[in-house]
Amino acid sequence: MTPAVTTTAAKNIEQMLSLPSVQTAFSFFDSHKEIITEEQIRICSIPSSPFDEKRRAEYLREKFSEIGLEDARIDEEGNCLALRRGHSLSPLLVVSAHLDTVFPRGTDFSVRRMANKLSAPGISDDGCGLVALLAIARALDVARIMTDGSILFVGTVGEEGAGNLRGVRYLFGKGEWARRIDAFISFDGGGIDRITNGALGSRRYRVRLRGTGGHSWADFGVSNPIHALGRAISRLASYPAPKQPRTTFNVGHIEGGSSVNAIPSEAVMEVDLRSACEHQLLRLDAFFRRAVREAVDDENATRRKDDGPLALDLQLIGERPIGETRADSPIVELAQEATCALGFTPRLDRASTDSNVPISLSLPAITLGGGGTSGNSHTIDEWYDPREREAGLKRALLVILGMVRVKKG
Ligand SMILES: [Zn+2]
Repeated sequence: MTPAVTTTAAKNIEQMLSLPSVQTAFSFFDSHKEIITEEQIRICSIPSSPFDEKRRAEYLREKFSEIGLEDARIDEEGNCLALRRGHSLSPLLVVSAHLDTVFPRGTDFSVRRMANKLSAPGISDDGCGLVALLAIARALDVARIMTDGSILFVGTVGEEGAGNLRGVRYLFGKGEWARRIDAFISFDGGGIDRITNGALGSRRYRVRLRGTGGHSWADFGVSNPIHALGRAISRLASYPAPKQPRTTFNVGHIEGGSSVNAIPSEAVMEVDLRSACEHQLLRLDAFFRRAVREAVDDENATRRKDDGPLALDLQLIGERPIGETRADSPIVELAQEATCALGFTPRLDRASTDSNVPISLSLPAITLGGGGTSGNSHTIDEWYDPREREAGLKRALLVILGMVRVKKG
């Protein structure tokens, strides 16, 4: 960390805090706590499952229009975009949150409210981020804050699981703004101290094994796809994953077979491999693929003569790039100073979020919490407590304005 940069970021924050317009925006967050929470409940009550985010995107588009953002629309991939034009289109900062959840179609998305807690699938991840976009856009409008650069507000599709970051990939790939984006901030979940500047890499696989199947007694000796998966899982479970750099693996889903007394004809598992380090991820990946092949070979080696071998289909279903926005880059410095200015201790962190894509393109990108506290993420008991949310929104506003600069005069 170079002191000069810290001084610049600190001075920048100090100047912003002295502006009446910024204080007006802060008061907006303080006086609209309940309205913001009610908005979050409305957003999260709209079902949004992987590859089925349309209704939530449409709702966000309407809200963006109501606030007066320019050209609110849904792109070909399903992302919802709207522009808050500054003096110039450069620098262009994307401020985003993700529309999808991990929960499948048919999930009950209704929000329960008990005392201070809200509870619903996706209430924090990423209902908290989506409502932050609306609250920030409204506060900028109410406080009539003009900026030098411009802000592109985006609700992304496909951040979770099999979505494989498809929304943000499109934004930086084929999207019309792709080559004009200078920096990226994603709001994902609650919290006030976390600054995710590291992109955790992952590789995800679906392993499908097919055999002839048969009777458990009469056909004993026919290759059993579930037994083969068991062999593969046992090998994977023995992998000496390093604690540093943190490397993890998980067999997260398994299915196959139909009856206790039938040799299954098919079995499937889905596997998640992650690491903070590219080299370690590739090592784990190679180990895993070899483990699966050897497990299938072992199972096939035990089969009766004349029976067919198991067929293996190993499919890469997700791949997230690794990288880092440097701790001494202006965006991270700003986020750290803004966190301190609000009385919290910043904590740099590494995770798998929409920021992985811009980070892999060497663009300055971070992911922040939208304030408040949360728990049980990715379960149907997910909860969110909006107390102190306003601190998260104020921090967000300072970082955003620090990047696009408040226009003078
Ligand atoms: Zn999320």
